[in-house]
Amino acid sequence: MEQKEGQLLDVGLELLAAGQDLARKLEVDVCGVLLGDGVERLTSQVFEAGADKVYLIDDPVLKNYRTETYMKAVGDLVRKYKPEIFLYGATSNGKDLASAVATDVLCGLTADTTLMDVDIDKRLFEASRPAFGGNIMATILCKKHRPQMATVRPKVIRRLLAEPGRTGEVIEEKVSMREEDLKTKVIEIVKNTKKAVNLEEAEIIVAAGKGIKDAKGFAMAAELAEAMNATLGASRDVVEAGLCGHERQVGQTGATVTPKVYVAIGISGAIQHLVGMQNAELIVAINSDKDAPIFQAAHYGICADAFTVVPMLTKAFREA
Ligand code: FAD
Repeated sequence: MEQKEGQLLDVGLELLAAGQDLARKLEVDVCGVLLGDGVERLTSQVFEAGADKVYLIDDPVLKNYRTETYMKAVGDLVRKYKPEIFLYGATSNGKDLASAVATDVLCGLTADTTLMDVDIDKRLFEASRPAFGGNIMATILCKKHRPQMATVRPKVIRRLLAEPGRTGEVIEEKVSMREEDLKTKVIEIVKNTKKAVNLEEAEIIVAAGKGIKDAKGFAMAAELAEAMNATLGASRDVVEAGLCGHERQVGQTGATVTPKVYVAIGISGAIQHLVGMQNAELIVAINSDKDAPIFQAAHYGICADAFTVVPMLTKAFREA
């Protein structure tokens, strides 16, 4: 259960939802692991999101994420409790921790999973992830090792509706680390003061593709985003053309998003883009090519020149 400054990240709650089906098949409990300093108060949220048990290590040495301390704490838990499956969010810290723990406990790791299942007859965990540039889904089997470990992309699984008042068993563990013995010290945390683009949490996204052509076209898409009170996203080609930063990229090597509305302007619908946005509740595509693959994924398609349609939409939203 990844937490930042005492707040649980959504991805941990999504993993609890993913764990329900796997645990039912394996007839085991769904458990959350909570590490940090002053995090005991978060256990109720973990139970309410679907955990039967919470392994809690609350210690000042775990205040900030450090590979050294978190690897030791999680590695010790894995050795002691021998879980069948251990999932991490595929966040920066989650990816770092997963690879460190997998090395520590000598097991395999499937990175960036988007789908998980269990073959109950063979008691095998099957984790699928896009491979070969996203053109195929590869199913990775780690046959011999326990636990089966995987990092799971944020937003590919819907979290369960919280059940207020739901509780379970808290298993408290201690760490045997002392600050003075550690190799890594956190001296200062410098916050990024640049206004963050939070595509993952956005309810409405207007995304610009190469069809917008240049900075003027990008500004046109940005105006529609503003009029719709939406967050501005982009395809990789637009990012690579230098029209915006990577933080706006949607897709396999960018953000995975699940907004209520996704408006794709001049985006062809390459598989690497689709994997990042195809779970949006409503997709509207604007493209001048009637055969563009994006129309297969869209709920509404406008086959027209973006330079005609987008200013009309912006005007309509501004007047609404
Ligand atoms: P194009 O494919 O060039 O499409 C432009 C579209 O605009 C066309 O459909 C065209 O008909 C339309 N158009 C042109 N003029 C107009 C107009 N005037 N009005 C309306 N429509 C118009 N891509 C991502 O987006 N995200 C990723 O994370 C990502 N990761 C990748 C990872 C790997 C390993 C690889 C190999 C590729 C990745 N890609 C990713 C790139 C991806 O394969 C595509 O190249 C990219 O998505 C195409 O971007 P696009 O749709 O903007 O451009």
